[in-house]
Amino acid sequence: MTDHYDAVVIGSGAGGGTLARTLAASGKRILLLERGNFLRRELRNWDPYEVLTGDRYVTRDTWFDAGGRPFEPGVHYFVGGATKVYGAALGRLRPADFGEIAHSDGLSPAWPLSYDEFEPWYAKAEWLYQVRGLHGEDPSEGPWSEEYPWPPVSHEPLVQQIADHLDRAGYHPFHMPRGVMLDEANPPASLCIRCDTCDGYPCLVHAKADADVIAVRPLLSRLNVTLLVNAEVTRLETDAQGRSVTKVIVRRGDAHEEYRGDMVILAAGAVNSAKVLLRSASDRHPAGLANGSGQVGRNYMCHHSTDVVAFGEKANETMFQQTLGINAFYLADESRRSPYPGGSSRRWPLGGIELLARSDLLARRLAAPWGVLDAPDIEDRAVGFRLTTEDLPRPDNRVTLDRRGRLHLAYRATNSGQAAMLYHEFETMLSHADLHVAGRETPAAAGLRGAAVADQAGTCRFGTDPATSVLDVNCKAHELDNLYVADASFMPSAGAVGPALTTMANAIRVGEHLVRRLR
Ligand SMILES: Cc1cc2nc3c(=O)[nH]c(=O)nc-3n(C[C@H](O)[C@H](O)[C@H](O)COP(=O)(O)OP(=O)(O)OC[C@H]3O[C@@H](n4cnc5c(N)ncnc54)[C@H](O)[C@@H]3O)c2cc1C
Repeated sequence: MTDHYDAVVIGSGAGGGTLARTLAASGKRILLLERGNFLRRELRNWDPYEVLTGDRYVTRDTWFDAGGRPFEPGVHYFVGGATKVYGAALGRLRPADFGEIAHSDGLSPAWPLSYDEFEPWYAKAEWLYQVRGLHGEDPSEGPWSEEYPWPPVSHEPLVQQIADHLDRAGYHPFHMPRGVMLDEANPPASLCIRCDTCDGYPCLVHAKADADVIAVRPLLSRLNVTLLVNAEVTRLETDAQGRSVTKVIVRRGDAHEEYRGDMVILAAGAVNSAKVLLRSASDRHPAGLANGSGQVGRNYMCHHSTDVVAFGEKANETMFQQTLGINAFYLADESRRSPYPGGSSRRWPLGGIELLARSDLLARRLAAPWGVLDAPDIEDRAVGFRLTTEDLPRPDNRVTLDRRGRLHLAYRATNSGQAAMLYHEFETMLSHADLHVAGRETPAAAGLRGAAVADQAGTCRFGTDPATSVLDVNCKAHELDNLYVADASFMPSAGAVGPALTTMANAIRVGEHLVRRLR
């Protein structure tokens, strides 16, 4: 096997997998290095006790919090990265998210690109990941250049009833865009069997549009692409001037290997990409590779989320529940008068609301302590919602390494006040749908273990000023000629939408730039 490639891509998730797929069509020789292996297809993929309670697919890794306490982060090192277990809710950021927005806890900074400039890659990502959706339903949405490739996943009766109630009350519910291979017009041809175990679970029948199924597997038959699994990149080395990456150092089992690429694209996820750069410190880059600005690892973001279990009068017989979203509180109300019934004035953007997949475990965990319902009733009548508020990029929310090379993640959630306001609006909204809260939890605020690392973003943000950003507008490191970062770490702000579609769209954008550069 050669050790020199046109491009070496590190990480095969939403960013790296999508970028490798974009580059591959050029015929250039690509090496894709993935720390994990393929996730095994087994019946346990769908077993909630194995997956959610037993953390069957969470990789054993130890990080340390700001106080130096060790914890096992809820991370997933597989071909496809976190998308192997993601919910495949594939929404776009709103146009306002690309500009500067005032929040109660500070500013959400502007991106170096506008929504209109970024939009063509959203359309490409929606087509690549076969998103089911309907543009135009949600008034907070920006313009779109292409319709979705597939119609939205239809609401089942109870969800349709909730949508109708909320629509009549003026909340503009919409069909949640989902990357699931469900063909409702032709059920026998449909891969997806509507089991609704996307979020948190791998898909046994490969009907979820994850980066493994959509981006990486189609490359395996190509002669110009080499995938190495169980290949952890530990360090990047540069030439004597520190201007280009000359060696990618890899640990495979007990062996240490070296690879070379004309271009090197780091996409190991927001935390691990920062780790690789910080570990690659040298005389030329004493604070870490590409870190003259001191920004590598800083501005870590996740999302401020609250899970709520509500219940109504009727039994909930829904199979596939994650079909509904509400963005009525996503943007600030500049008139400071909420147009929504019973809503309070809204100076700040509060965030988004979506239905969760049906989960008896969640229902029992959240509702039982409140003593609202008996256990069988909870499972029969519960409807789960997730409320998501934007988390701001604080410089002190950051990844660092200690002298022993161990990873520390310092994180304090922002915008708790806005999350509380969103909950208040949500309670009022629920009353219009004849639903009542039975219990809630705020997983991200509760600790770093799971939710606070699921939507990780922002540790190598892109921008025009090398003093305040790590990457330029093409996601090339300001300080190096051939190093790119193409995972969720490029985001200067996270909005209140899952980062996956934005990461995929950006990876296609960066991939197309690289195709032109390598030509
Ligand atoms: C349970 C769960 C549900 C989610 N649901 C949604 C959702 O519905 N919608 C949404 O928008 N987002 C969702 N997300 C978040 C979404 O999956 C991530 O935002 C997205 O995958 C980030 O892409 P990435 O490329 O930055 O990282 P990843 O997709 O995680 O890819 C990083 C890859 O790099 C590999 N890697 C790490 N270190 C190294 C190394 N040193 N060398 C080689 N390889 C390395 C990892 O194994 C991994 O394969 C969810 C996440 C989780 C955990």
